[in-house]
Amino acid sequence: MHVRKIIHIDMDAFYASVELREQPQLRGKPVVVAWDGPRSVICAASYEARRFGLHSAMSVATAKRLCPQAVYIAPHFDLYRQVSQQIHQIFAQYTDLIEPLSLDEAYLDVTRNHQHIPYAVDVARRIRADIAAQTGLTASAGIAPNKFLAKIASDWRKPNGQFALPPQKVAAFLETLPLAKIPGVGKVTLQKMNALGMHTAGDLRAFERGELLNHFGRYGYRLYDLARGNDERPVKPSRERLQISTEITLPEDLPLAEISRHLPHLGDDLWEQVTRKKIQARSVTLKLKTADFRIITRSLTYSSALPDAASLQQAAATLIRRIPRQHDDAFRLIGIGVGHLMPAGQQQSLWHEEENEPQTSESDQSEAV
Ligand SMILES: [Mg+2]
Repeated sequence: MHVRKIIHIDMDAFYASVELREQPQLRGKPVVVAWDGPRSVICAASYEARRFGLHSAMSVATAKRLCPQAVYIAPHFDLYRQVSQQIHQIFAQYTDLIEPLSLDEAYLDVTRNHQHIPYAVDVARRIRADIAAQTGLTASAGIAPNKFLAKIASDWRKPNGQFALPPQKVAAFLETLPLAKIPGVGKVTLQKMNALGMHTAGDLRAFERGELLNHFGRYGYRLYDLARGNDERPVKPSRERLQISTEITLPEDLPLAEISRHLPHLGDDLWEQVTRKKIQARSVTLKLKTADFRIITRSLTYSSALPDAASLQQAAATLIRRIPRQHDDAFRLIGIGVGHLMPAGQQQSLWHEEENEPQTSESDQSEAV
């Protein structure tokens, strides 16, 4: 069988590291990137801040209690995007098969790389050195035969490290791998797994496909494959998007009330993209992913373009209210997007709402990890 060489690159505490680079006098201090507001949450925490128990998605109110001496900085998404493009250009010197996951993470398929470097560990080392030299920032890397394993591996030697899982080491690695390390296994799923007596990916292997289907729905099939280190998903180079969107995946599953606290900074980020790209948008979409990987979307289409950031926020808040409340529901991702795009400058006066049928769709599990 053809063995692939996949690298997952993940910048270390990206937003916070960029801010520290811009303000070197803050080095050594706990730094938190977050909007200031009674209900806002942390976008990124520096490693110093993490020592105080601070982490992304934590409410700023809690953070200020735990670490009042931290320096709180409002995010500069424009700058993060610039740096992200710079990093992307470095990747492109090694391969065309680049799949960005967010501003600071990407999968690369370097099985055949432009520099004809035989070992993927050397490609990863060179890329990390290029990133350090050109941006002054550190990245960590995971090297493995597929995306699932590469993503876990990039976390293994963080920050500023790399970890390789060659095919012959995969089985032993999975044997003792805690289940919480498997992408997609949140708090709710983990509790269920523990109740079934599973604690490591090795334990998971004792279950038949059918059993896993019964316990975890379609995600059970995915778990069956992952427990064996199988993941055939190709690295998909990104295409131009028809819709502009932004989203955040949380480190743990949270109820809707808590996850919706991300709306203000997602809204600001999205509006910044809309104005920078000099476009207008007539529709707003809310996307949620539940702990069990259902994707729920709601959208609103207006007869004229959104006039300002406040109207975007308002639309998002309206959509949130349309999500049926089930008290045991937990969510792992929240995103908003705008569509029905046109170049800015076309004046329209009406501001009417026409409502779309709410849609709820099953997610493609392959997208989930
Ligand atoms: Mg990162």
